Amino acid sequence: MIGAGIGGLTAAALLAHRGYEVTAFDQAIAPGGCASTFKRRGFTFDVGATQVAGLEAGGIHHEIFQELDVPLPAATNCDPACAVYLPGETNPISVWRDPQTWQAERQQQFPGSERFWHLLATLFQASWRFQGREPVLPPRKPWDVWQLISAVRPDTLVTAPFTFSTVGQLLKAFGLYGDRRLKTFLDMQLKLYSQVGVDETALLYAATALGVSQAPQGLFHLEGSMQVLSDRLVAALERDGGKLLMRHTVEQVHTEHGRVTGVTVRNQKTGSTWTETADIVVGNVTVQNLVTLLGDAAPSGYRRRVQKLDDSSGAFVVYLGVDQAAIPPDCPPHLQFLYDYDGPIGENNSLFVSVSRPGDGRAPEGKATIIASSFTDLNQWHQAENYDMLKQQYTETAISRLGQFFDLRPDHLVHVEAGTPKTFERFTARDRGAVGGLGMRVSTFGPFGFANRTPIPNLWLVGDCTHPGEGTAGVSYSAQTTVRQIEEQFG
Ligand SMILES: Cc1cc2nc3c(=O)[nH]c(=O)nc-3n(C[C@H](O)[C@H](O)[C@H](O)COP(=O)(O)OP(=O)(O)OC[C@H]3O[C@@H](n4cnc5c(N)ncnc54)[C@H](O)[C@@H]3O)c2cc1C
Repeated sequence: MIGAGIGGLTAAALLAHRGYEVTAFDQAIAPGGCASTFKRRGFTFDVGATQVAGLEAGGIHHEIFQELDVPLPAATNCDPACAVYLPGETNPISVWRDPQTWQAERQQQFPGSERFWHLLATLFQASWRFQGREPVLPPRKPWDVWQLISAVRPDTLVTAPFTFSTVGQLLKAFGLYGDRRLKTFLDMQLKLYSQVGVDETALLYAATALGVSQAPQGLFHLEGSMQVLSDRLVAALERDGGKLLMRHTVEQVHTEHGRVTGVTVRNQKTGSTWTETADIVVGNVTVQNLVTLLGDAAPSGYRRRVQKLDDSSGAFVVYLGVDQAAIPPDCPPHLQFLYDYDGPIGENNSLFVSVSRPGDGRAPEGKATIIASSFTDLNQWHQAENYDMLKQQYTETAISRLGQFFDLRPDHLVHVEAGTPKTFERFTARDRGAVGGLGMRVSTFGPFGFANRTPIPNLWLVGDCTHPGEGTAGVSYSAQTTVRQIEEQFG
Protein backbone atom coordinates (compact mmCIF):
# COMPACT_ATOMS: atom_id res chain seq x y z
CA MET A 1 0.00 0.00 0.00
CA ILE A 2 1.45 3.36 -1.02
CA GLY A 3 0.07 5.88 1.43
CA ALA A 4 -1.96 5.69 4.63
CA GLY A 5 -4.63 8.33 4.10
CA ILE A 6 -8.20 7.26 4.90
CA GLY A 7 -8.48 5.55 1.50
CA GLY A 8 -5.23 3.60 1.90
CA LEU A 9 -5.80 2.69 5.54
CA THR A 10 -9.33 1.49 4.85
CA ALA A 11 -8.17 -0.70 1.97
CA ALA A 12 -5.18 -1.97 3.99
CA ALA A 13 -7.30 -2.80 7.06
CA LEU A 14 -9.98 -4.55 4.98
CA LEU A 15 -7.38 -6.58 3.06
CA ALA A 16 -5.56 -7.61 6.26
CA HIS A 17 -8.90 -8.58 7.81
CA ARG A 18 -9.59 -10.80 4.80
CA GLY A 19 -6.25 -12.57 5.29
CA TYR A 20 -3.92 -10.72 2.89
CA GLU A 21 -0.37 -9.95 3.95
CA VAL A 22 -0.32 -6.15 3.90
CA THR A 23 2.46 -3.59 4.30
CA ALA A 24 1.56 0.09 4.10
CA PHE A 25 4.20 2.78 3.59
CA ASP A 26 3.54 6.43 4.32
CA GLN A 27 5.98 9.26 3.92
CA ALA A 28 4.40 11.43 6.66
CA ILE A 29 4.96 11.35 10.42
CA ALA A 30 1.33 10.55 11.23
CA PRO A 31 -1.20 8.55 9.20
CA GLY A 32 -4.44 10.06 7.86
CA GLY A 33 -3.15 12.41 5.14
CA CYS A 34 -5.66 15.24 4.61
CA ALA A 35 -7.72 13.85 7.50
CA SER A 36 -4.92 13.83 10.07
CA THR A 37 -4.15 16.30 12.85
CA PHE A 38 -1.26 18.20 14.41
CA LYS A 39 -0.76 19.55 17.92
CA ARG A 40 0.41 23.00 19.05
CA ARG A 41 0.43 24.48 22.55
CA GLY A 42 -2.28 22.18 23.86
CA PHE A 43 -4.50 22.55 20.77
CA THR A 44 -5.23 19.74 18.33
CA PHE A 45 -5.89 20.97 14.80
CA ASP A 46 -7.57 18.92 12.08
CA VAL A 47 -5.32 19.38 9.06
CA GLY A 48 -8.04 19.33 6.39
CA ALA A 49 -11.22 17.30 6.84
CA THR A 50 -13.29 18.41 9.82
CA GLN A 51 -16.73 16.85 9.24
CA VAL A 52 -17.53 13.27 8.41
CA ALA A 53 -20.36 11.66 6.44
CA GLY A 54 -21.23 7.97 6.58
CA LEU A 55 -21.17 7.34 10.34
CA GLU A 56 -24.92 6.62 10.58
CA ALA A 57 -26.16 3.00 10.58
CA GLY A 58 -25.70 1.76 7.00
CA GLY A 59 -23.22 4.58 6.21
CA ILE A 60 -19.90 3.61 4.66
CA HIS A 61 -17.69 4.20 7.72
CA HIS A 62 -20.25 2.41 9.91
CA GLU A 63 -20.30 -0.57 7.54
CA ILE A 64 -16.51 -0.77 7.32
CA PHE A 65 -15.96 -0.45 11.08
CA GLN A 66 -18.53 -3.18 11.59
CA GLU A 67 -16.75 -5.48 9.13
CA LEU A 68 -13.42 -4.74 10.84
CA ASP A 69 -15.03 -5.29 14.24
CA VAL A 70 -13.66 -2.07 15.70
CA PRO A 71 -15.81 0.45 17.60
CA LEU A 72 -17.11 3.40 15.63
CA PRO A 73 -15.58 6.69 16.85
CA ALA A 74 -17.85 8.76 19.08
CA ALA A 75 -19.37 11.70 17.21
CA THR A 76 -22.07 14.34 17.43
CA ASN A 77 -24.41 15.47 14.65
CA CYS A 78 -23.63 18.71 12.88
CA ASP A 79 -26.99 20.46 13.06
CA PRO A 80 -26.98 22.64 11.11
CA ALA A 81 -24.48 20.90 8.84
CA CYS A 82 -23.43 24.39 7.82
CA ALA A 83 -24.51 27.98 8.44
CA VAL A 84 -23.96 29.87 5.20
CA TYR A 85 -23.58 33.66 5.26
CA LEU A 86 -24.08 35.46 1.95
CA PRO A 87 -22.40 38.87 1.42
CA GLY A 88 -23.81 41.59 3.63
CA GLU A 89 -26.27 39.27 5.38
CA THR A 90 -26.29 38.71 9.13
CA ASN A 91 -28.72 35.79 9.23
CA PRO A 92 -27.31 32.57 7.82
CA ILE A 93 -28.92 29.98 5.58
CA SER A 94 -28.86 27.04 7.97
CA VAL A 95 -28.65 23.60 6.41
CA TRP A 96 -30.65 21.74 9.05
CA ARG A 97 -30.41 18.00 9.53
CA ASP A 98 -34.15 17.48 9.91
CA PRO A 99 -35.58 17.30 6.35
CA GLN A 100 -38.77 19.26 7.21
CA THR A 101 -36.88 22.03 9.01
CA TRP A 102 -34.48 22.30 6.07
CA GLN A 103 -37.42 22.42 3.66
CA ALA A 104 -39.01 25.27 5.65
CA GLU A 105 -35.66 27.09 5.76
CA ARG A 106 -35.08 26.91 2.02
CA GLN A 107 -38.69 27.82 1.21
CA GLN A 108 -38.17 30.97 3.24
CA GLN A 109 -34.66 31.63 1.88
CA PHE A 110 -35.28 30.74 -1.77
CA PRO A 111 -38.98 31.23 -2.56
CA GLY A 112 -40.13 29.54 -5.76
CA SER A 113 -37.31 26.97 -5.84
CA GLU A 114 -39.10 23.97 -4.33
CA ARG A 115 -39.53 22.05 -7.59
CA PHE A 116 -35.76 22.23 -8.08
CA TRP A 117 -35.14 20.86 -4.57
CA HIS A 118 -37.80 18.23 -5.02
CA LEU A 119 -36.10 16.89 -8.14
CA LEU A 120 -32.72 16.94 -6.38
CA ALA A 121 -34.23 14.91 -3.53
CA THR A 122 -35.69 12.37 -5.99
CA LEU A 123 -32.30 11.98 -7.70
CA PHE A 124 -30.56 11.69 -4.34
CA GLN A 125 -32.88 8.94 -3.10
CA ALA A 126 -32.45 6.91 -6.29
CA SER A 127 -28.67 7.44 -6.38
CA TRP A 128 -28.31 6.59 -2.70
CA ARG A 129 -30.20 3.31 -3.05
CA PHE A 130 -28.13 2.52 -6.17
CA GLN A 131 -24.84 3.24 -4.35
CA GLY A 132 -26.03 1.07 -1.44
CA ARG A 133 -26.13 -1.93 -3.81
CA GLU A 134 -22.37 -1.45 -4.36
CA PRO A 135 -22.08 -0.81 -8.11
CA VAL A 136 -18.58 -0.63 -9.55
CA LEU A 137 -17.98 2.66 -11.31
CA PRO A 138 -16.47 3.18 -13.76
CA PRO A 139 -16.47 -0.45 -14.93
CA ARG A 140 -13.31 -1.85 -16.51
CA LYS A 141 -13.84 -5.65 -16.49
CA PRO A 142 -16.87 -7.90 -17.12
CA TRP A 143 -17.15 -8.48 -13.35
CA ASP A 144 -17.39 -4.70 -12.81
CA VAL A 145 -20.07 -4.42 -15.50
CA TRP A 146 -22.02 -7.20 -13.81
CA GLN A 147 -21.79 -5.44 -10.41
CA LEU A 148 -23.00 -2.27 -12.06
CA ILE A 149 -25.92 -3.89 -13.85
CA SER A 150 -26.91 -5.82 -10.72
CA ALA A 151 -27.20 -2.55 -8.79
CA VAL A 152 -29.65 -1.04 -11.28
CA ARG A 153 -33.36 -1.16 -10.39
CA PRO A 154 -36.34 0.45 -12.13
CA ASP A 155 -36.06 3.46 -9.80
CA THR A 156 -32.42 4.03 -10.85
CA LEU A 157 -33.67 4.88 -14.34
CA VAL A 158 -34.99 8.21 -13.08
CA THR A 159 -31.34 9.34 -12.88
CA ALA A 160 -30.42 8.24 -16.44
CA PRO A 161 -31.67 11.33 -18.32
CA PHE A 162 -29.53 13.50 -16.03
CA THR A 163 -26.22 11.64 -16.51
CA PHE A 164 -24.77 14.46 -18.59
CA SER A 165 -26.47 17.37 -16.81
CA THR A 166 -24.94 20.02 -14.62
CA VAL A 167 -26.62 21.82 -11.75
CA GLY A 168 -26.54 25.05 -13.78
CA GLN A 169 -28.56 23.43 -16.56
CA LEU A 170 -31.22 22.32 -14.09
CA LEU A 171 -31.38 25.81 -12.57
CA LYS A 172 -31.89 27.21 -16.08
CA ALA A 173 -34.58 24.63 -16.86
CA PHE A 174 -36.50 25.77 -13.76
CA GLY A 175 -35.93 29.46 -14.54
CA LEU A 176 -33.85 29.83 -11.37
CA TYR A 177 -30.43 30.58 -12.80
CA GLY A 178 -30.99 34.31 -12.29
CA ASP A 179 -31.77 33.88 -8.57
CA ARG A 180 -28.50 35.28 -7.29
CA ARG A 181 -28.89 34.17 -3.67
CA LEU A 182 -29.79 30.60 -4.62
CA LYS A 183 -27.09 30.31 -7.26
CA THR A 184 -24.46 31.74 -4.93
CA PHE A 185 -25.49 29.46 -2.07
CA LEU A 186 -25.22 26.45 -4.39
CA ASP A 187 -21.91 27.66 -5.82
CA MET A 188 -20.49 27.94 -2.30
CA GLN A 189 -21.69 24.54 -1.12
CA LEU A 190 -20.76 22.74 -4.32
CA LYS A 191 -17.30 24.22 -4.38
CA LEU A 192 -16.77 22.59 -0.98
CA TYR A 193 -17.89 19.18 -2.10
CA SER A 194 -16.99 19.09 -5.76
CA GLN A 195 -14.34 21.79 -6.30
CA VAL A 196 -16.45 23.47 -8.97
CA GLY A 197 -19.65 25.54 -8.97
CA VAL A 198 -23.12 25.06 -10.44
CA ASP A 199 -22.04 25.47 -14.06
CA GLU A 200 -19.66 22.54 -13.94
CA THR A 201 -20.77 20.21 -11.15
CA ALA A 202 -22.40 17.00 -12.40
CA LEU A 203 -26.03 17.10 -11.29
CA LEU A 204 -26.08 13.52 -10.00
CA TYR A 205 -23.04 14.18 -7.83
CA ALA A 206 -24.57 17.40 -6.52
CA ALA A 207 -27.81 15.62 -5.61
CA THR A 208 -25.83 13.27 -3.37
CA ALA A 209 -23.43 15.85 -1.96
CA LEU A 210 -26.27 18.20 -1.03
CA GLY A 211 -28.59 15.42 0.15
CA VAL A 212 -26.35 13.68 2.68
CA SER A 213 -26.63 16.52 5.21
CA GLN A 214 -30.20 15.48 6.13
CA ALA A 215 -31.42 12.64 8.35
CA PRO A 216 -31.28 9.68 8.22
CA GLN A 217 -27.82 10.50 6.86
CA GLY A 218 -26.00 13.58 8.14
CA LEU A 219 -22.62 15.11 8.81
CA PHE A 220 -20.78 14.39 12.03
CA HIS A 221 -18.17 16.02 14.24
CA LEU A 222 -15.80 13.45 15.75
CA GLU A 223 -15.01 13.53 19.46
CA GLY A 224 -11.27 13.90 20.11
CA SER A 225 -10.17 14.84 16.62
CA MET A 226 -10.20 13.53 13.04
CA GLN A 227 -7.15 11.43 13.93
CA VAL A 228 -9.37 8.95 15.74
CA LEU A 229 -10.61 7.67 12.36
CA SER A 230 -7.08 6.77 11.24
CA ASP A 231 -6.09 5.44 14.66
CA ARG A 232 -8.96 2.94 14.63
CA LEU A 233 -8.09 1.78 11.12
CA VAL A 234 -4.42 1.39 12.06
CA ALA A 235 -5.43 -0.62 15.15
CA ALA A 236 -7.50 -2.96 12.95
CA LEU A 237 -4.70 -3.30 10.40
CA GLU A 238 -2.08 -4.18 13.03
CA ARG A 239 -4.42 -6.49 14.94
CA ASP A 240 -4.91 -8.47 11.71
CA GLY A 241 -1.18 -8.82 11.09
CA GLY A 242 -0.68 -5.87 8.70
CA LYS A 243 2.24 -3.48 8.99
CA LEU A 244 2.32 0.31 8.74
CA LEU A 245 5.70 1.96 8.23
CA MET A 246 5.56 5.73 8.65
CA ARG A 247 8.25 8.04 7.26
CA HIS A 248 8.80 5.60 4.43
CA THR A 249 8.50 7.11 0.97
CA VAL A 250 7.65 5.04 -2.07
CA GLU A 251 9.82 6.46 -4.83
CA GLN A 252 9.02 4.20 -7.75
CA VAL A 253 6.60 1.53 -8.86
CA HIS A 254 8.32 -1.25 -10.85
CA THR A 255 6.73 -3.25 -13.62
CA GLU A 256 7.78 -6.21 -15.71
CA HIS A 257 5.86 -7.55 -18.71
CA GLY A 258 3.02 -5.14 -17.97
CA ARG A 259 2.57 -6.17 -14.33
CA VAL A 260 3.71 -4.52 -11.13
CA THR A 261 6.51 -6.40 -9.38
CA GLY A 262 7.23 -4.11 -6.44
CA VAL A 263 8.15 -0.64 -5.25
CA THR A 264 11.29 1.23 -4.25
CA VAL A 265 10.99 2.43 -0.67
CA ARG A 266 13.17 4.98 1.12
CA ASN A 267 13.40 5.02 4.89
CA GLN A 268 13.54 8.73 5.72
CA LYS A 269 15.31 8.19 9.05
CA THR A 270 18.17 6.08 7.77
CA GLY A 271 18.15 7.20 4.13
CA SER A 272 18.35 3.55 3.04
CA THR A 273 16.38 2.38 0.02
CA TRP A 274 15.27 -1.06 -1.04
CA THR A 275 12.87 -2.75 -3.42
CA GLU A 276 9.86 -4.32 -1.77
CA THR A 277 8.38 -7.01 -3.96
CA ALA A 278 4.61 -7.31 -4.11
CA ASP A 279 1.95 -9.33 -5.92
CA ILE A 280 -0.54 -6.48 -5.67
CA VAL A 281 0.12 -2.76 -5.22
CA VAL A 282 -2.52 -0.23 -4.18
CA GLY A 283 -1.68 3.45 -4.55
CA ASN A 284 -3.39 5.89 -2.19
CA VAL A 285 -2.03 8.81 -4.17
CA THR A 286 -3.33 11.28 -6.73
CA VAL A 287 -3.52 10.15 -10.37
CA GLN A 288 -0.75 12.63 -11.17
CA ASN A 289 1.47 11.09 -8.47
CA LEU A 290 0.70 7.59 -9.76
CA VAL A 291 1.89 8.50 -13.23
CA THR A 292 5.09 9.97 -11.76
CA LEU A 293 5.70 6.86 -9.66
CA LEU A 294 5.29 4.67 -12.74
CA GLY A 295 7.65 6.80 -14.83
CA ASP A 296 8.15 5.27 -18.27
CA ALA A 297 5.98 2.32 -17.27
CA ALA A 298 2.86 4.51 -17.17
CA PRO A 299 0.54 3.39 -19.98
CA SER A 300 0.57 6.18 -22.58
CA GLY A 301 -3.24 6.57 -22.82
CA TYR A 302 -3.49 6.85 -19.05
CA ARG A 303 -0.68 9.38 -18.91
CA ARG A 304 -2.30 11.48 -21.65
CA ARG A 305 -5.64 11.47 -19.86
CA VAL A 306 -3.99 12.66 -16.65
CA GLN A 307 -2.10 15.39 -18.48
CA LYS A 308 -5.34 16.69 -19.98
CA LEU A 309 -7.12 17.06 -16.63
CA ASP A 310 -8.25 20.52 -15.55
CA ASP A 311 -6.14 22.12 -12.85
CA SER A 312 -7.09 20.94 -9.36
CA SER A 313 -7.56 23.35 -6.47
CA GLY A 314 -5.30 24.07 -3.58
CA ALA A 315 -6.31 25.10 -0.09
CA PHE A 316 -5.17 27.96 2.08
CA VAL A 317 -5.95 27.16 5.71
CA VAL A 318 -5.55 29.21 8.90
CA TYR A 319 -5.44 27.34 12.17
CA LEU A 320 -6.29 29.53 15.18
CA GLY A 321 -6.05 28.56 18.84
CA VAL A 322 -8.26 31.10 20.64
CA ASP A 323 -9.81 31.98 23.93
CA GLN A 324 -13.38 30.61 24.16
CA ALA A 325 -14.51 34.23 24.55
CA ALA A 326 -13.71 34.70 20.85
CA ILE A 327 -16.58 32.39 19.91
CA PRO A 328 -20.10 33.85 19.84
CA PRO A 329 -22.69 31.98 21.94
CA ASP A 330 -24.51 29.12 20.12
CA CYS A 331 -21.98 29.22 17.30
CA PRO A 332 -22.67 26.40 14.79
CA PRO A 333 -19.71 24.02 14.36
CA HIS A 334 -19.40 24.76 10.63
CA LEU A 335 -19.90 28.05 8.86
CA GLN A 336 -19.32 29.36 5.40
CA PHE A 337 -18.86 33.02 4.53
CA LEU A 338 -18.81 34.85 1.22
CA TYR A 339 -17.64 38.43 1.45
CA ASP A 340 -18.23 39.85 -2.02
CA TYR A 341 -20.62 38.63 -4.74
CA ASP A 342 -18.24 39.82 -7.43
CA GLY A 343 -15.17 38.03 -6.09
CA PRO A 344 -14.20 34.37 -6.53
CA ILE A 345 -15.42 31.56 -4.31
CA GLY A 346 -12.00 31.09 -2.82
CA GLU A 347 -8.87 33.19 -2.32
CA ASN A 348 -10.16 34.35 1.09
CA ASN A 349 -13.28 35.89 -0.51
CA SER A 350 -15.04 32.86 0.92
CA LEU A 351 -14.07 30.91 4.01
CA PHE A 352 -15.25 27.54 5.27
CA VAL A 353 -14.90 27.58 9.03
CA SER A 354 -14.89 24.80 11.57
CA VAL A 355 -15.11 25.61 15.29
CA SER A 356 -14.35 23.20 18.11
CA ARG A 357 -16.91 22.55 20.83
CA PRO A 358 -16.11 22.78 24.53
CA GLY A 359 -14.92 19.35 25.68
CA ASP A 360 -14.51 17.86 22.19
CA GLY A 361 -10.80 17.19 22.76
CA ARG A 362 -9.39 19.85 20.45
CA ALA A 363 -8.60 22.65 22.91
CA PRO A 364 -7.67 23.09 26.55
CA GLU A 365 -10.39 24.21 29.01
CA GLY A 366 -11.59 27.73 28.22
CA LYS A 367 -10.05 27.69 24.74
CA ALA A 368 -11.22 26.72 21.25
CA THR A 369 -9.92 26.10 17.76
CA ILE A 370 -11.08 27.92 14.63
CA ILE A 371 -9.97 26.45 11.31
CA ALA A 372 -10.78 28.44 8.20
CA SER A 373 -10.05 27.22 4.69
CA SER A 374 -10.32 28.77 1.28
CA PHE A 375 -9.71 27.44 -2.22
CA THR A 376 -6.66 28.90 -3.85
CA ASP A 377 -4.92 28.78 -7.19
CA LEU A 378 -1.90 26.47 -7.02
CA ASN A 379 0.29 28.41 -9.43
CA GLN A 380 0.51 31.59 -7.43
CA TRP A 381 2.02 29.69 -4.48
CA HIS A 382 4.49 27.72 -6.55
CA GLN A 383 5.54 30.71 -8.62
CA ALA A 384 5.45 33.33 -5.85
CA GLU A 385 8.53 35.55 -5.79
CA ASN A 386 8.01 36.22 -2.12
CA TYR A 387 6.20 33.21 -0.74
CA ASP A 388 6.49 34.25 2.92
CA MET A 389 4.98 37.65 2.21
CA LEU A 390 2.10 36.11 0.26
CA LYS A 391 1.42 33.70 3.11
CA GLN A 392 1.50 36.56 5.62
CA GLN A 393 -0.91 38.63 3.50
CA TYR A 394 -3.34 35.73 3.17
CA THR A 395 -3.16 35.04 6.91
CA GLU A 396 -3.86 38.67 7.82
CA THR A 397 -6.77 38.92 5.37
CA ALA A 398 -8.30 35.70 6.67
CA ILE A 399 -7.99 36.83 10.30
CA SER A 400 -9.45 40.24 9.55
CA ARG A 401 -12.40 38.66 7.73
CA LEU A 402 -12.95 36.13 10.50
CA GLY A 403 -12.85 39.06 12.93
CA GLN A 404 -16.17 40.26 11.50
CA PHE A 405 -17.82 37.25 13.15
CA PHE A 406 -15.46 36.11 15.91
CA ASP A 407 -13.96 38.35 18.58
CA LEU A 408 -10.34 38.05 17.49
CA ARG A 409 -8.80 40.86 19.54
CA PRO A 410 -5.08 40.15 20.06
CA ASP A 411 -5.40 38.80 23.59
CA HIS A 412 -7.92 36.19 22.37
CA LEU A 413 -5.44 34.80 19.85
CA VAL A 414 -3.23 32.14 21.43
CA HIS A 415 -1.89 30.42 18.32
CA VAL A 416 -1.88 31.34 14.63
CA GLU A 417 -0.58 29.10 11.87
CA ALA A 418 -1.29 28.81 8.17
CA GLY A 419 -1.05 26.06 5.57
CA THR A 420 -0.69 26.66 1.83
CA PRO A 421 -0.49 24.30 -1.16
CA LYS A 422 3.24 24.09 -0.46
CA THR A 423 2.49 22.92 3.07
CA PHE A 424 0.09 20.26 1.75
CA GLU A 425 2.66 19.22 -0.83
CA ARG A 426 5.25 18.72 1.90
CA PHE A 427 3.07 16.92 4.42
CA THR A 428 0.82 14.84 2.16
CA ALA A 429 3.13 14.49 -0.88
CA ARG A 430 0.15 15.29 -3.13
CA ASP A 431 1.16 16.58 -6.55
CA ARG A 432 1.73 20.37 -6.21
CA GLY A 433 -0.27 20.27 -2.97
CA ALA A 434 -3.60 19.95 -4.82
CA VAL A 435 -6.35 18.70 -2.53
CA GLY A 436 -9.87 17.32 -2.79
CA GLY A 437 -9.55 15.17 -5.89
CA LEU A 438 -10.30 16.03 -9.49
CA GLY A 439 -13.49 18.05 -9.27
CA MET A 440 -16.86 16.50 -9.97
CA ARG A 441 -17.47 17.69 -13.50
CA VAL A 442 -19.54 15.51 -15.83
CA SER A 443 -16.27 14.42 -17.45
CA THR A 444 -14.78 13.11 -14.19
CA PHE A 445 -17.83 11.78 -12.34
CA GLY A 446 -19.27 8.27 -12.15
CA PRO A 447 -18.94 6.37 -15.45
CA PHE A 448 -16.45 8.98 -16.72
CA GLY A 449 -14.23 9.14 -13.64
CA PHE A 450 -10.92 7.43 -12.89
CA ALA A 451 -11.40 3.80 -11.98
CA ASN A 452 -9.85 2.01 -9.03
CA ARG A 453 -8.47 -0.51 -11.50
CA THR A 454 -5.60 0.96 -13.45
CA PRO A 455 -4.59 -0.33 -16.89
CA ILE A 456 -1.93 -2.41 -15.08
CA PRO A 457 -3.75 -5.56 -13.92
CA ASN A 458 -2.28 -5.81 -10.40
CA LEU A 459 -2.12 -2.09 -9.64
CA TRP A 460 -5.07 -0.29 -8.01
CA LEU A 461 -5.71 3.33 -7.14
CA VAL A 462 -7.77 4.44 -4.13
CA GLY A 463 -8.53 7.90 -2.82
CA ASP A 464 -10.20 11.11 -3.81
CA CYS A 465 -9.12 11.07 -7.47
CA THR A 466 -11.31 8.02 -8.03
CA HIS A 467 -15.06 7.45 -7.89
CA PRO A 468 -16.99 8.72 -5.92
CA GLY A 469 -14.53 11.51 -5.18
CA GLU A 470 -13.40 13.49 -2.18
CA GLY A 471 -14.20 13.18 1.50
CA THR A 472 -13.44 10.47 4.01
CA ALA A 473 -16.69 8.71 3.06
CA GLY A 474 -15.92 8.93 -0.66
CA VAL A 475 -12.42 7.49 -0.34
CA SER A 476 -13.76 4.70 1.88
CA TYR A 477 -16.11 3.67 -0.94
CA SER A 478 -13.14 3.60 -3.29
CA ALA A 479 -11.24 1.38 -0.83
CA GLN A 480 -14.19 -0.96 -0.46
CA THR A 481 -14.58 -1.30 -4.24
CA THR A 482 -10.86 -1.97 -4.63
CA VAL A 483 -10.90 -4.69 -1.99
CA ARG A 484 -13.92 -6.36 -3.64
CA GLN A 485 -12.13 -6.30 -7.00
CA ILE A 486 -8.93 -7.74 -5.52
CA GLU A 487 -10.91 -10.52 -3.82
CA GLU A 488 -12.70 -11.31 -7.05
CA GLN A 489 -9.43 -11.44 -8.99
CA PHE A 490 -7.14 -13.13 -6.49
CA GLY A 491 -9.57 -14.88 -4.15
C1 LIG B 1 -8.76 21.92 3.77
C2 LIG B 1 -9.51 20.64 3.52
C3 LIG B 1 -10.77 20.47 4.10
C4 LIG B 1 -11.47 19.28 3.90
N1 LIG B 1 -12.66 19.09 4.55
C5 LIG B 1 -13.27 17.89 4.49
C6 LIG B 1 -14.36 17.58 5.34
O1 LIG B 1 -14.78 18.39 6.16
N2 LIG B 1 -14.91 16.34 5.24
C7 LIG B 1 -14.42 15.39 4.41
O2 LIG B 1 -14.93 14.26 4.38
N3 LIG B 1 -13.36 15.64 3.61
C8 LIG B 1 -12.78 16.86 3.64
N4 LIG B 1 -11.67 17.10 2.89
C9 LIG B 1 -11.23 16.10 1.89
C10 LIG B 1 -10.62 14.88 2.54
O3 LIG B 1 -9.76 15.25 3.56
C11 LIG B 1 -9.86 14.09 1.49
O4 LIG B 1 -10.63 13.92 0.31
C12 LIG B 1 -9.48 12.70 1.99
O5 LIG B 1 -9.03 12.73 3.33
C13 LIG B 1 -8.38 12.18 1.06
O6 LIG B 1 -8.01 10.91 1.44
P1 LIG B 1 -7.10 9.99 0.52
O7 LIG B 1 -7.11 8.66 1.13
O8 LIG B 1 -7.53 10.12 -0.89
O9 LIG B 1 -5.64 10.60 0.52
P2 LIG B 1 -4.70 11.57 1.36
O10 LIG B 1 -5.41 12.15 2.52
O11 LIG B 1 -4.08 12.47 0.38
O12 LIG B 1 -3.59 10.57 1.92
C14 LIG B 1 -2.57 10.07 1.11
C15 LIG B 1 -1.47 9.55 2.01
O13 LIG B 1 -0.47 8.99 1.19
C16 LIG B 1 0.82 9.39 1.64
N5 LIG B 1 1.71 9.37 0.45
C17 LIG B 1 1.54 10.06 -0.69
N6 LIG B 1 2.53 9.75 -1.56
C18 LIG B 1 3.32 8.85 -0.94
C19 LIG B 1 4.49 8.15 -1.32
N7 LIG B 1 5.06 8.31 -2.52
N8 LIG B 1 5.06 7.30 -0.44
C20 LIG B 1 4.51 7.11 0.79
N9 LIG B 1 3.41 7.76 1.20
C21 LIG B 1 2.80 8.60 0.33
C22 LIG B 1 0.61 10.76 2.24
O14 LIG B 1 1.58 11.05 3.22
C23 LIG B 1 -0.80 10.64 2.84
O15 LIG B 1 -0.76 10.22 4.19
C24 LIG B 1 -10.92 18.27 3.09
C25 LIG B 1 -9.65 18.43 2.52
C26 LIG B 1 -8.95 19.59 2.75
C27 LIG B 1 -7.58 19.72 2.19
